[in-house]
Amino acid sequence: MKQAWRRPDRRRMRTVRDRLRAAYGRPVLNPHGAPVDELVLTVLSQNTNDRNRDVAYARLREWFPGGWPQVREAPLERVEEAIRPGGLSKTKAGRIQEMLRAIGGDDLGWMQQAALAEARDFLVALPGVGRKTAACVLLFSFGQPDVPVDTHVFRVGGRLGLFRPDAPLEEAHDELTRLAAGDPGDAYELHTALLRHGRRTCAARAPRCGECPLRRMCPYGRSRVGSS
Ligand code: SF4
Repeated sequence: MKQAWRRPDRRRMRTVRDRLRAAYGRPVLNPHGAPVDELVLTVLSQNTNDRNRDVAYARLREWFPGGWPQVREAPLERVEEAIRPGGLSKTKAGRIQEMLRAIGGDDLGWMQQAALAEARDFLVALPGVGRKTAACVLLFSFGQPDVPVDTHVFRVGGRLGLFRPDAPLEEAHDELTRLAAGDPGDAYELHTALLRHGRRTCAARAPRCGECPLRRMCPYGRSRVGSS
């Protein structure tokens, strides 16, 4: 019989964190204070790999030395051409310009001191910005304790029961951010460790549960290989 889901507490989160820390090391959060850069990077990272994203971003910076105001005012085709190596350039160029227009001249620096919910509400109201992008901006730029949930974090967190089995993405963000409990280091480590684990061990199709340090505490892993 399937076990009913029980909301995990901080102790369980710390156990997951510590086991993954032992496996992959402890990631250190270094907020860069550049939220608009982060927003643009996140758009560029959609449906491509990190390398193509970085090439597209570097070209954008190189082609528009006047910075984001220049990108905002440039002809769409020019932006599109600059970011072509990142794929889906027409859609992404439109999204970037729309977003930059909605931000106007705001450098978003006020978010450093703002309440997490207030800053997040502002970001998700921007065109094309969802919870994951907002969390990336808040965590990586300012060290605000929001946990970005990408496809790996969602899969691994779901298998571990860190949120309800059928939870939509938004709820997964809420639950993981609750588990971080306002601690930026934990928010960053939770995000980074689950992401690494998803890439290296807990793959979508063939998770390597037999060699996973979380097997004993993972309902999904136990159902596949037992807890021995
Ligand atoms: S036991 Fe398996 S399903 Fe669970 S976290 Fe580890 S690799 Fe993923």
